[in-house]
Amino acid sequence: MAIRFGPAGIPIQCQGTSTIEGIECCSKLGLGAMEMEFVHGVRMKDDVAREAATLAKKQDISLSSHAPYYVNLCTSDEQKIHNSKKHIFESARTTFLCGGNITVFHPGFYQKLSKDEAFAIAKKNLQDIEVSLKQHSIKIRLGAETVGKKSAFGGLDENIKLSQQLEMVEPAIDFAHLHARGDFRITSEKDYLAIFDKLEKELGDYVKRFHCHFSEINYSDKGELNHFVLGTNNEPPFKPFMKVLAENGYSGTVICETPKLDLDALLLKKEYEKMKKGL
Ligand SMILES: [Zn+2]
Repeated sequence: MAIRFGPAGIPIQCQGTSTIEGIECCSKLGLGAMEMEFVHGVRMKDDVAREAATLAKKQDISLSSHAPYYVNLCTSDEQKIHNSKKHIFESARTTFLCGGNITVFHPGFYQKLSKDEAFAIAKKNLQDIEVSLKQHSIKIRLGAETVGKKSAFGGLDENIKLSQQLEMVEPAIDFAHLHARGDFRITSEKDYLAIFDKLEKELGDYVKRFHCHFSEINYSDKGELNHFVLGTNNEPPFKPFMKVLAENGYSGTVICETPKLDLDALLLKKEYEKMKKGL
């Protein structure tokens, strides 16, 4: 399938709580992806990761992960940098063992830095991570998530620029965050098309393997507050998104980050298939 849908974490309809059970459950539900949440630390053992890789391959579930939240690549605090690099490295290593293709991370915070300074520091630290990953023959994409707060480093343009200048980094597009931060207010089909046009222009065939997060969102003038289930405020609206995906030949993964995870992932998939049929 051109577009894979899956939950951010173990499906809520799943009886168990392990990654293995989550993969089984996604397969039974007819979903094609699952994002493993390493957000409070990477604790998966290597033998479990290998087991997950075998099962995911057999069930055709595409795995990705979300690196720990405790990452800030834009700081001069040596200890924080060391820890941030370690979190991303560990997350990437385990995801690679799982046969996964991308680990998503939150790039950082500006704090007192200018935008240019924050970019230069983040780039240097990501280069160091790439060197360590290569030394360990770990082949994976590092997904710089588009952030939802104005105080956070990692807007759409910044992440596109990181991707252009670094070998392993690609943006992980969080549409709700783009909308809440004001990087891109999304109200209709043409807004989604503008985002994909921009991605295609700047990053070429990324639109054939994009990785994104989707939910509706509550926000203030500072940016994101919390994620909503589909159909709460229609910000951003999911139906035009599914229409754009169905009509334009893009390929990639949509990870559902609403509180209803797999239930809403299935709703997205249903809408996408309806649009596909109507073509
Ligand atoms: Zn995230």
